[in-house]
Amino acid sequence: MDGNAPRPLLFLDVDGPLIPFGAGPEQYPDGYPTYPAPLAPPVSPMHRTGLGPQPAAVNPLLTRINPAHGPRLAALPCDLVWATTWMADANECVAPWLGLPELPFVVWPDPSDSDEAEWGAPHWKTRPLVHWASGRDFLWVDDEITDTDRTWVAAHHRGRALLHRVDHRHGLTDADFAALEEWFT
Ligand SMILES: [Mg+2]
Repeated sequence: MDGNAPRPLLFLDVDGPLIPFGAGPEQYPDGYPTYPAPLAPPVSPMHRTGLGPQPAAVNPLLTRINPAHGPRLAALPCDLVWATTWMADANECVAPWLGLPELPFVVWPDPSDSDEAEWGAPHWKTRPLVHWASGRDFLWVDDEITDTDRTWVAAHHRGRALLHRVDHRHGLTDADFAALEEWFT
């Protein structure tokens, strides 16, 4: 890697990669594993009195997020960016759960401006992410990536890119991390 080049970006989806869903009882007979809320750093008086939003109360699916994924993601030699419909809520709820700092997040264009219904069009996130990256190398971790997106990115993005699809039934696994780590070597 060029010593002067900025680090690659890692666009990170939440629902699917971090919050698994959709598996059947044959895969998780007792339901998905859940994790206790991490010990909170100093909280605001609002939280202390229970008046403010409590993360798990905001979205009970948060308990499916494995907090150990936070340090593993942070250890990758790249800059994390939220690429999720959670947008600012990802910093409010998900980042503390993972022990991550506040991260930049992609603000999506108005759906009425997109032409996602067009046949053969890439995923509605694909164009905004390529625009956001603006030529910078990136990884994109999402459960909805298809070859249409890979083809579109190859044609419209001048940097390197890894579009890594995660199985939403399981969320991020060791194999996913291995694939991401390999891309950097
Ligand atoms: Mg998703």
